[in-house]
Amino acid sequence: MKHNVILILLDGLSYSVAQHAMGHLLAYRNAGRAALYKLECELPALSRPLYECILTGVAPIDSGIVHNHVSRLSTQRSVFHYATGAGLTTAAAAYHWVSELYNRSPFIAARDRHTNDAELPIQHAHFYYLDHYPDSHLFDDAEHLRTAHQPDFLFIHPMNIDDAGHKHGLDSPQYRNSARSADVILAEYLQRWLDAGYQVLVTADHGMNDDRSHNGILPEEREVPLFVIGDAFSLDPGAKPKQTEICGMVCELLGVPHDKPVCTEVLK
Ligand SMILES: [Zn+2]
Repeated sequence: MKHNVILILLDGLSYSVAQHAMGHLLAYRNAGRAALYKLECELPALSRPLYECILTGVAPIDSGIVHNHVSRLSTQRSVFHYATGAGLTTAAAAYHWVSELYNRSPFIAARDRHTNDAELPIQHAHFYYLDHYPDSHLFDDAEHLRTAHQPDFLFIHPMNIDDAGHKHGLDSPQYRNSARSADVILAEYLQRWLDAGYQVLVTADHGMNDDRSHNGILPEEREVPLFVIGDAFSLDPGAKPKQTEICGMVCELLGVPHDKPVCTEVLK
């Protein structure tokens, strides 16, 4: 069964906040149209290593993307590679590190910020490089890509929750309100995407701590949400997905060959 997929990575969103702040997503869950799972992120709880983990299914100590300043192309096969290898169309509205992992490294803004190249793993993209690039603009960028190019796989990656956490910490109105704001933006688009036939996953790379950082094993740093919305999901509350299984699950939904682990209980 082939589905189109939108994978949303809300950078730095701790499960502890996701479980109460995301009113729109929680309405879908309460109506029996979505499921919310708690994932433990792989270690270290850092951004670039976990973008690689989510998009390739490979943990940092095996991928070699072990900290945020490892600036090179990934040596792993990502969702983008599996999808384009099967003739599907890919797109991303994401932080520039995603371009460096899968398209071109180093990132040269004037060349790479707006990408349209069928030969690259991420064929259509808008990449940004400031952590306070507004989530509202980023979601609009993503919707532009979706309507202009009809991608089979669309990756959406806003940064403002993580940015608020680094400035104000986990236990702050600013951090919680940035999560609430992302949920409100999602409310604008989510039903539209479902009506267009997309299966939607919303997750995070890592959480946040009260020291305005993240790297280690505190529950608030390591526990992240995985919301799944769409008719291809089982919504089985007993499923126990892992962060390393997201890549394989997305490939299963897309109906493309892959060699990564999958949590079959999450899928129908
Ligand atoms: Zn961060």
